[in-house]
Amino acid sequence: MSILVTGGAGYIGSHTVVELQNAGYEVVVLDNLSNSSKESLNRIKAITGKETVFYQNDINDRAALMEIFQKEKITSCIHFAGLKAVGESVVKPWEYYQNNIAGTLVLLDEMRKHGIKNIIFSSSATVYGDPAFIPITEECPKGTCTNPYGFTKSMLEQILTDMQVADPEWNVILLRYFNPIGAHASGTIGEDPNGIPNNLMPFITQVAVGKLKELGIFGNDYDTPDGTGVRDYIHVVDLANGHVKALSKIAENCGLKIYNLGTGTGYSVFEIIKNFEEATGIKIAYSMKPRRQGDIASCYANADKAKAELDWQAKYGIREMCADAWRWQSQNPRGYGV
Ligand code: NAD
Ligand code: UDP
Repeated sequence: MSILVTGGAGYIGSHTVVELQNAGYEVVVLDNLSNSSKESLNRIKAITGKETVFYQNDINDRAALMEIFQKEKITSCIHFAGLKAVGESVVKPWEYYQNNIAGTLVLLDEMRKHGIKNIIFSSSATVYGDPAFIPITEECPKGTCTNPYGFTKSMLEQILTDMQVADPEWNVILLRYFNPIGAHASGTIGEDPNGIPNNLMPFITQVAVGKLKELGIFGNDYDTPDGTGVRDYIHVVDLANGHVKALSKIAENCGLKIYNLGTGTGYSVFEIIKNFEEATGIKIAYSMKPRRQGDIASCYANADKAKAELDWQAKYGIREMCADAWRWQSQNPRGYGV
């Protein structure tokens, strides 16, 4: 009995594979390596001592999926595979819809043909758009997305919901992630963005390691305590453990469930810089820049539902997130690129 982890060589996927193996699950990874390296799987083995069955294939490749479902004894799928760069999605919307939506439709079709109707889907707080209220509960209405990437998440949530309603044999858990940062405590797996990072923490760690000169802060005139954007940063290992808990929920035949995975605490950009500096002793050079298009002022979770129903709660604080992000970056200045 195995869990299929699509996108398992990527940032969140690799950390989830570690926690799944630590919890005793057998894992099969499917990843086309479009945004990851096979080296992450070697690193996983060094951490857990366990073998991961790996297929280098695309979720759009129906023949490959058929082979996997015929060969492996898959009971559930954790579906991370997808393109995730917000800016790129604006420039290449077709590629995002093709990869994320068409790919997921092929995956779901092959799953049901093989009688596998359990899926945990990587959704995002981006589906709330500019949230109607904060802290954001799961009851907060979905908002208008500001880019094609966000729409792929919102649309896939709808597709999965409709499929579960039509066929209640499906167990579907939509996990809405807030802002995952940090890395495994070993410093051997972590986030390895292509090119210049879009997200705050990898940008900060690349400034710290000397790859980038300074951080640009996108706006200090938001309606927040210090004017910079406030987000709910969550340690990637906590996030990974949320998936292990979600698998136990699936085992109860839970039907359709939606959970926020966040800490419930928001930090501003200035607070993140300060915490990073205090956790690492490294000063981060920065300058003020105009607001980034599509950004919102504040976004943080109410994570009570995941606590009550999944028995899951974030354990790591912001200092550990910063220290672990730095350990990964400093030990691997070029990511997995040797
Ligand atoms: P990532 O890019 O590191 O991992 C995604 C993995 O999927 C990569 O290894 C990539 O090679 C693979 N992949 C992409 N398209 C594929 C395809 N067609 N077939 C097979 N493999 C494919 O990203 P991540 O940060 O680990 O994110 C994982 C998931 O979580 C994504 O769906 C992402 O949208 C979602 N998510 C991420 C964040 C975040 O801030 N990192 C926040 C919310 C949601
Ligand atoms: N941010 C910033 N400079 C950067 C990257 C991000 O000031 O180089 C800010 C951004 O405006 C937001 C916060 O940091 O307020 C988190 O941004 P990120 O892209 O990491 O996450 P998201 O906006 O998707 O929640």
